[in-house]
Amino acid sequence: MTRSPQLLRTAAQARACMQRWRDKGLRIGLVPTMGALHQGHLSLLQRSRQTCDVTAVTIFVNPTQFGPGEDFERYPRQLQHDLDLLADARATAVFAPQAEAMYPPDHSTWVDPPAVARPLEGAFRPGHFRGVATIVLKLLQILPADDAFFGQKDFQQLRVIQDMVRDLNVPTRIIMCPTVREPDGLALSSRNAYLSQDQRARAVGVVRALQGACQLFQQGECDSGRLQHHMREVLEAHQIDAVDYAAVVDQQGLRPVELATDRCVALIAARVGNTRLIDNMFLAEGR
Ligand code: AMP
Repeated sequence: MTRSPQLLRTAAQARACMQRWRDKGLRIGLVPTMGALHQGHLSLLQRSRQTCDVTAVTIFVNPTQFGPGEDFERYPRQLQHDLDLLADARATAVFAPQAEAMYPPDHSTWVDPPAVARPLEGAFRPGHFRGVATIVLKLLQILPADDAFFGQKDFQQLRVIQDMVRDLNVPTRIIMCPTVREPDGLALSSRNAYLSQDQRARAVGVVRALQGACQLFQQGECDSGRLQHHMREVLEAHQIDAVDYAAVVDQQGLRPVELATDRCVALIAARVGNTRLIDNMFLAEGR
């Protein structure tokens, strides 16, 4: 019999739980998610269980990080199924608040995200990282963990959170965990559920383009323009419907580079049907 994680529905319950853990001197891990859990999310929990005594997973579809016309309404919500998965994966507690509790009508304070939020996703999803930075800071205030675990899958988000906790003196350590992929390489994502069979087959073009760029780089191609061009060719060959960006940038500032180095990352945001997919790979990855 697996033991169900403690379900925390209010900030007051979450704080009380944290206090009990602190009083016992336990090391606390935090895994923030929007639910519709898959093995990528569970890998963050597994990583937390390696270094922390207890782990709180948060499940909250954060309305403020979705733009008008994005998929907030249809984003998959399956709390009971998620709780079952988290029981099997032995999370200690789950914080799943109501939207009105996180954003009461008089809520009017926002985090102005760091500079690294501006390019790429920042350019295509205005306000997205303001919503992300605000909710992550709020969660870290309610659940002040020792370590918080984030996936490389959302690399720019991870960089935004790293810079935010540094700049705002948040004492939590931010730990990056590798991207979990399907056997054919497609990065696991809650949004993959939107894909039809045909779209799923084409979606693999995103990871093939990233792999292609890494391979070219490892064969000695350092011209970032040529690496980017190659990614677009692979995306086109897989009939990806639209490409927001296919970029090679430095991992620190996510700024464009002329010459790619080992410290660069290739990132893609592309649309298959109505589904927007993002993925990335460090150029030195897989060496
Ligand atoms: P989300 O529920 O999509 O907001 O994601 C919650 C956390 O899980 C974020 O830190 C993501 O980067 C991480 N994550 C999502 N997909 C994956 C994946 N395929 N591999 C590793 N981490 C992931």
